[in-house]
Amino acid sequence: MNKGDITLARRDFLKLTGGAAGLSLVTLNGCSSDTFVAEVSDGKADIAYTSWEDVYVKQWDWDTISWGSHNNQCLPAGCTFRVYSRNGLVWREEQYANSAACSDEYPDYNPMGCQKGCAFHNLLYSEERLRYPMKRVGERGAGKWQRISWDEALTEVADAILDAHEEIGSAGFHVDAPHNHGGGVGKSGVHRFAHQLGAVMPETNVAIGDDLKGVSQVFGKMRMGMTSDNMFDADILIFSNTNWSYTVTPMYHFITEARYNGAEVILVNPDYNPSTIHADIHVPVVAGSDAAYWLSVSQVMIEEEIYDRDFILEQTDMPMLVRRDNAKFLSAEEVDGGRPDQFYFYDSGVGGIAQAPRASLKYEGKLEQLELEGLWKVRLADGSDVEVETVFARLKDMLNREYKPELAAEMCGTSPSLIREVARKVATKRTHFYNGFSTAKQYHGDLMERAAILMLGLSGNWGKPGTGFNNFLMMVDHVAHITGAEKTVAQGQLIDNKHALDELTKELKASDPAVSEEDAIIELMVRKQLKSATVPPAIWMYNYAGYNKLWDKKEWQDPTSPMTFGEYLSEGLEKGYIDPTYKCGPETRPQVLMYNCHNPLRRQRAGSQMYIEELWPKAKMIFYVETRMSSSAAFADILLPSAWYYEKEDTTSVFAHFPYQAMQEKAVNPPGEAHTEWEIYRDIMEKIGERAAQRNMKQFVDWGGTTRKYSDMKDRFTINGALNDNADVVREFVDYNAAVGIFPKDYTLEKFEEEGQVRIQSLGTSSQRHTQASDWHTDKPCYAMGWHVDKKLPYPTHTRRAQFYMDHEWFIGAGEAFPVHKDTPPQGGHHPFRLVSGHPRISVHTLHLANPHFMKLHRGQPVVFLNTEVAAEKGISDGDQVLMSNDYAESEFMVSLSAAVSRDQVLTYMWEPYQFKNWRSHDALMPGIPKPTPLAMNYTQCRFHIATGSPNPASDRAIRVDINKVKEA
Ligand code: SF4
Repeated sequence: MNKGDITLARRDFLKLTGGAAGLSLVTLNGCSSDTFVAEVSDGKADIAYTSWEDVYVKQWDWDTISWGSHNNQCLPAGCTFRVYSRNGLVWREEQYANSAACSDEYPDYNPMGCQKGCAFHNLLYSEERLRYPMKRVGERGAGKWQRISWDEALTEVADAILDAHEEIGSAGFHVDAPHNHGGGVGKSGVHRFAHQLGAVMPETNVAIGDDLKGVSQVFGKMRMGMTSDNMFDADILIFSNTNWSYTVTPMYHFITEARYNGAEVILVNPDYNPSTIHADIHVPVVAGSDAAYWLSVSQVMIEEEIYDRDFILEQTDMPMLVRRDNAKFLSAEEVDGGRPDQFYFYDSGVGGIAQAPRASLKYEGKLEQLELEGLWKVRLADGSDVEVETVFARLKDMLNREYKPELAAEMCGTSPSLIREVARKVATKRTHFYNGFSTAKQYHGDLMERAAILMLGLSGNWGKPGTGFNNFLMMVDHVAHITGAEKTVAQGQLIDNKHALDELTKELKASDPAVSEEDAIIELMVRKQLKSATVPPAIWMYNYAGYNKLWDKKEWQDPTSPMTFGEYLSEGLEKGYIDPTYKCGPETRPQVLMYNCHNPLRRQRAGSQMYIEELWPKAKMIFYVETRMSSSAAFADILLPSAWYYEKEDTTSVFAHFPYQAMQEKAVNPPGEAHTEWEIYRDIMEKIGERAAQRNMKQFVDWGGTTRKYSDMKDRFTINGALNDNADVVREFVDYNAAVGIFPKDYTLEKFEEEGQVRIQSLGTSSQRHTQASDWHTDKPCYAMGWHVDKKLPYPTHTRRAQFYMDHEWFIGAGEAFPVHKDTPPQGGHHPFRLVSGHPRISVHTLHLANPHFMKLHRGQPVVFLNTEVAAEKGISDGDQVLMSNDYAESEFMVSLSAAVSRDQVLTYMWEPYQFKNWRSHDALMPGIPKPTPLAMNYTQCRFHIATGSPNPASDRAIRVDINKVKEA
């Protein structure tokens, strides 16, 4: 090529950029800004590259610098970045260290970021990227596509939805559990779109197995978290079912800083994972046996009398009386015809039973006179006598019988001395417990969580600085606001919200004066859920996706469970435990399925069988709103390409670990003809109105029974044009957050654009405030449950206390009134290895796994880790191909040998199914049988509402598999 300033021809430019692959402009060919390429082709663009050297030299020149971040649902999510663009392309991104510490006494958050975020722009120009609307022309999944116009695509989608309305009703259109990867605007857009169309939606958080059932069962709520600097106030940091060095990368330094501050770190995990390297104590529990470990720690605390007596008397159900004859709490209804939810203590000062307070945790008598142990006779209203004892006495008896360290060691594989050592430390020191999401993917994860919280409760370790059972706080108020708003903030939506809550509180207080604001908010969410067509995903999958064929197999059941999943479901509907609204019958079957940020062939256990063979053949139309061609998107009928981060205005959601919300500016245009999700939903709404008019369809009845006109779908969606695009929605987010106090008062979008991030000032006015139940500070760390401990606010549970004894008949029948240890059921059969899985180091979910840039960081194909000694015994060498199998399916991997994996364990992380032979990933081995007891949705803390409640259809950890070398042909 001649030297000198020239305008490059398109072909030459693409050749040049291909040659510059070592720079940030990795795969420009085929995925760059089309406008730019068209202008180059037409000779309009003024670029002056003369050779590849110029590209190299000019890599530090920018046209624009913008704020950016990623809404991957990584943790913590929301790191603030600077995004550098030139000629309509993002060339690189860089961490921006402006996240200050709360005070000089605590570590700061900088630098925020991880390797995935620092190279995110590679995904924008990846070969997987979708750029044009496309229609399938071959069989589903055959990979044959035809490019179509947006008008053609929207018409096909609108007609399919209207057909479903005509043939089934609004419930014939289903939006299958969309995740948050689209960002705050996209997430609120998909929910708003679905709700306004009366579409059925399996609840996402439960569908993905992120719902921590045991936490709800104890506290009546699930999302409680801390700012990461809370760890700096702890003496002991326990991490369980998590691997922060992979999955919470930007916050890992808080662990090391807390250690320098004197904290001890205890990691509870079957494998010696990369986070364990920096731990002081590794507790190597057998996969799936955590409950046995924590129950034994609790036994030691009780036996050695090192528990916090005052704390358990005040905060928990330990002093409450249980009838010996039927194992239920003694209630006022039985004693004197009073309330069925009024329970009792035994007060030695008065020499008899005393009513437990319901409006407060504060006992009006003398706390020290409440008995924790004893056996008493109580006369009931019908004249009969029953024997009662305390929850504590029953618990102590069970722990002494079954969980002394020498017995528990047999179950959990750790030494009795390690059980006693940890018990004594936790009982005497300020302990912070972080629980990852893996327990929610364990069949008996609820029992593990309950057992761990029991150990914390006995030692008084929540509601104080440096303590708590932490996962994360889901601070997405702004998204929830947009999802359901009929008006903007300026038009008075917040006044309407307050009015609705006040009215409901008044109604509830009329029948129960003890109702708290938290109770009213939960009830409001429960009622909204009933009207919103969001359904329990396990019931949806069981009835529509053929999972009944897997989940009712007797030989795969938990041997201690009296019934199969299907039998629990039938009984629950029959007895009224489950609202019939959620039965997912043929009258609400999915005729049209929409997907957004959901890759069920990867995410749903056995998805590659059940979705392809059972669910999708029932649908007349499947369409995707997606940024990339995932394994699942390849099975769409219509593909609608959407914009990714850096290509649209947005803002992050805050997960409390990191108490800042980040601005996301539009740095470049999306590729090809991709649109933002919000614009796509708006345009579908408009097309539905247009096509309905042409088809003479006027209105429909939504799930909640309201009649909706087709003609105003677009106006309703955009609130008459006030929320027309992403920029409008971000402005509304800011208005909302400023109005409810999450942002500083009078904070503006312009200020946000200038500063790039804003520190969270409060938890606003809705549910998250009560879930966290603690004052929020900007000048010191934040922790959960302070209001229960300091202000004595009751918990939203059946007993109004942190509850360890579940007296629902299903829990009693399953032997789980108390947390106990049970082995993982043999779903998929009995085999020698326990399979453990999780998020990889080099990708958030599977987004980055097949990207050539990231593939340099791993072996470029799916890998399973196997213990080195075990592999030698089986004649398997590093790099061999092995077959992982169980009674249900098989999957082929390359093996990586590791001494860090225990002998009975195999470990693999997430991979994209199309990276496997026959697209059969390890997810195909997992029936994912949900534990059925959470179908007890009539029990206070098992109610189904947003992000909470109903069975997790994602149990897969510790299921049994075999590993064998692939025989050479
Ligand atoms: Fe981006 Fe998430 Fe990584 Fe932060 S943790 S850099 S938000 S991908």
